[in-house]
Amino acid sequence: MDKLHDGTEPHREAVPGDMLAALIRWYVGKGSETDEKIGVMLVHRAKMFERWLACDCLGSYRPPPLLSPAYLSDAETFYLRRLTGEGRPEHLTDCPFYRDQAEFERQQRKLDAKPLAPVDGYFAALKPLGEHLAQQPISDAADNRVRGPSTPRLARLLWQLIDAAETNVIGAIGHRRRPSIRYEYERLRDAARDLWIAPEIPLAAHFYTHPDDFRTQKIYARLRKAAKAWPVNHEPQAFLAAFAPSVTRREIILPEADPIIIASDIVKPAAKKVERGPYLVLVAIGEHAQARGYAPVRAYAQPVQDGRHFSPIHSNAERALQELLMRLQWLLNDKGISTRIKKPVFDLDTELGPCRPDFIVDVLDRRTQRRRLLNLELLGYDAETYCRSKEVTLPRLRLRAPVVEIEVAELADEAALTDRLMLALTGV
Ligand SMILES: [Zn+2]
Repeated sequence: MDKLHDGTEPHREAVPGDMLAALIRWYVGKGSETDEKIGVMLVHRAKMFERWLACDCLGSYRPPPLLSPAYLSDAETFYLRRLTGEGRPEHLTDCPFYRDQAEFERQQRKLDAKPLAPVDGYFAALKPLGEHLAQQPISDAADNRVRGPSTPRLARLLWQLIDAAETNVIGAIGHRRRPSIRYEYERLRDAARDLWIAPEIPLAAHFYTHPDDFRTQKIYARLRKAAKAWPVNHEPQAFLAAFAPSVTRREIILPEADPIIIASDIVKPAAKKVERGPYLVLVAIGEHAQARGYAPVRAYAQPVQDGRHFSPIHSNAERALQELLMRLQWLLNDKGISTRIKKPVFDLDTELGPCRPDFIVDVLDRRTQRRRLLNLELLGYDAETYCRSKEVTLPRLRLRAPVVEIEVAELADEAALTDRLMLALTGV
């Protein structure tokens, strides 16, 4: 049924009996692979045509209980969400749709228990299948510290690349190359050599950092050629990592080139956390039905520190704090203290459970050769994170290293915060 009507019989379109049977078997978690394909196809179609599924367990003339097609981005699968509550009709208790979808429940349990970690398997964002996952619905990727189905795979792939390239590390003065955008791209390309899109297909073979490669069609030409010998059960795909001062809904705005237009909405963290760029955008290029060929099908835009440091940041406050830390590096260096700043992208293990400090600073006093680690944690961004940090995160962080707590409000008085951090970092 379309969403404009009440769903009573005259406004419904029947699902053929054998398809319905397959859908139900899939829904309750007892379906075969074919049932799953049929289920996914039905849900995908409903999603595409903006329709709901009406259940007929209440008969023909009463408003039916509804099921909404939905996409579980982390598990990369479609499922049916029950629309109940708020005066909506409820299924009969013996109706198969009376409970949540089995697969959805299973994924939900898995995700709740899962720390934020690199993706399993290959560095791939597109999966082969009849239905193209490129049509992933728009999700406001929201706060990526909230673990759960909202962390898109493409985001985790980008973090994995950043982690391997160590662009999330700002080395000690004297032990690092002069920061530049070229060097950041170089580090990403180096890391791409050790990641794999599919068996025997290194990421480096289809990884680009220059938007010109789009314009000249080089990406498509290489991909088309390689696709002929691409391993079965893997989808041919290429990746572009591009620095962008800003992004719009579907456009990556580049400093000195035409914008890149993506076939789906660009995913990025919620604006209330990070309101502006620059971004490092990871674009997945693959086959796209509407484009009748290869196209940039998905993109994730990660806010980063600036054009010379592809260090991911998750809030305006983090960007301000890291900027201050980089200035402190020089002051401390003059006092004989070397510091290395790391922005962890994945969770770290502790006996109490996973945690992720906002920053880890490795401090080496060159005069005494004393070395120590400090966690820096920004607090007070909002009430909810504040409580979570205090009760859950801080005790875990303390198991790894002492924690320097910084209230976001402190960033307003830079001189005072500088003094406090200097004291903390010099270990006086
Ligand atoms: Zn029902």
